[in-house]
Amino acid sequence: MPIAQPPAPSAPVTTHLPKIALVGRPNVGKSTLFNRLIRANRAITHDRPGVTRDRMEGQVRSRGKQTFAIVDTGGITLDAHAAVAQGPEGIRGFEAEILRQAEAAMAEAAGICLVVDGRDGLTPFDEHLAAHLRRAGKPVLVVVNKVDGVEREDEMLAEFHALGFPLLPVSAAHGHNVRVLEDEMREMLPDEPEEEGVEEGDGAEDDFGLGAEADADADADDGDAEGDNAESGEPAAEPKAPPYDPTHLRLAMLGRPNAGKSSLVNALTGQQRMIVSDMAGTTRDSVDVSFESGDKTITFVDTAGVRRRSRITDSVERYSVNASLKSTTKAHVTLLVLDALQGVTQQDKRLVDLLDERKTPFMVLVNKIDLVPRKLMPDLEASFKGMLEFCPHVPLLYLSAKSGKGLDPVLPLAERIRAECHARVGTGQLNRAMDEVLTRHQPPVVRRLRPKFFYLTQAETNPPTFVFFVNDADRIQTPYARYVEKSLRRMFRIEHAPMRVRFRSSH
Ligand code: GDP
Ligand code: GDP
Repeated sequence: MPIAQPPAPSAPVTTHLPKIALVGRPNVGKSTLFNRLIRANRAITHDRPGVTRDRMEGQVRSRGKQTFAIVDTGGITLDAHAAVAQGPEGIRGFEAEILRQAEAAMAEAAGICLVVDGRDGLTPFDEHLAAHLRRAGKPVLVVVNKVDGVEREDEMLAEFHALGFPLLPVSAAHGHNVRVLEDEMREMLPDEPEEEGVEEGDGAEDDFGLGAEADADADADDGDAEGDNAESGEPAAEPKAPPYDPTHLRLAMLGRPNAGKSSLVNALTGQQRMIVSDMAGTTRDSVDVSFESGDKTITFVDTAGVRRRSRITDSVERYSVNASLKSTTKAHVTLLVLDALQGVTQQDKRLVDLLDERKTPFMVLVNKIDLVPRKLMPDLEASFKGMLEFCPHVPLLYLSAKSGKGLDPVLPLAERIRAECHARVGTGQLNRAMDEVLTRHQPPVVRRLRPKFFYLTQAETNPPTFVFFVNDADRIQTPYARYVEKSLRRMFRIEHAPMRVRFRSSH
């Protein structure tokens, strides 16, 4: 009798994509979740020779975000009933098979979602699987499914905390939190390979910095864009993440005419070889100025007056807040240059507030201190410090382009801010941080209830964005939010970069 040949393995279309594995007992809702996640994308079934089960693999795509694959190792052809009918041995064999599948998935996945059934509660087998996953050393998220129609979701979640992994409540059947889950899965992926060929000044970098604003407050809990998924609201225009190239630092100089911007550029570049390139299409005579510093290239974008001083007249160089902000979008870090003798003006204050609101990475350079009598310095420092009252993380340096005093920390600090913007905090550290935040000060009772915190995740970099999943975000008030931000900055060593801390209700 001819032996039935297994079907030829279908082309592993998604093999090149990083993978997230869904593991868990049968009937917890893995396939439902799988279908929900891949939405309209065709699932690809691999029939692999030597593998006694089907294996579902599908792509998760969202506009402007990294595409990845999910693998449902689901025990699809495992017959749970038959196993149970065989008694303890059958069950053991059955469990062994699920563990084996989980092992296989773990070997090739970047991250693992352990799907559990919130209605069943924590079962010994979930614990068994979790212990297995812990040894894999890969990021694990426990997805607590079937929270629909449950009144006390927090109570339902509570027992799963024992697994020691971050938790996310979802309803695969209703789409609740599925979009959030998708983002969480992306967080588990390795960083995308850096894009090549992003040339200076070709416009491709306009997404830097302020460009990211388009998505500023897009919340995954927004409206329903696709009809079938209560939480699939896509932000309208999502800029692509800028590649992080630590060898090239782009700086914007902001400040009123005569604050000393060009003097500073000259002083900071020192005797370095400067490369001055024209910026086409700008109305002012502004140029990008680059120089090499060790193995790094530093570019001052839209710099007026360097080497071409004679060609610009002061009347052309008006101090327009809007024009200033535009140049910050082309830079990684913005240096706001102020004239020590002018003190803090309303316009400077407004600009600081705007930069802070827009989460622009920036620092303040108070120039011309060689002209300030020593005894006036304390008052002067107090007034500049007051200007940063609402953004105390912003570095404030006192220096002189003329004498060279105070210049040394400028470039290292700018690099540090840039690096902090790209900080990525691991799951373990996030968990510990949340514990510490709550232990030091519990959230105060608001409207007779104390908010409950489920877990903390990092949703974005540049700027680093941290999201606390809580039972009721409306009960977190500004002073507590400030305390939380301050604590996270200290624990994650994100001292000078902009940061977002959000509280999201997960019902
Ligand atoms: P799998 O064996 O883990 O792949 O589980 P399935 O996706 O086949 O789901 C098992 C059962 O749970 C099915 O009857 C689903 O309709 C049901 N189910 C899945 N997700 C949910 C959910 O979010 N809420 C509820 N109430 N039922 C769900
Ligand atoms: P920009 O318009 O902001 O580019 O300012 P400039 O670099 O052209 O400087 C304006 C004026 O301030 C020039 O006369 C500079 O020589 C002077 N200046 C710049 N930096 C300093 C400084 O640190 N100390 C002193 N005393 N003068 C400075």
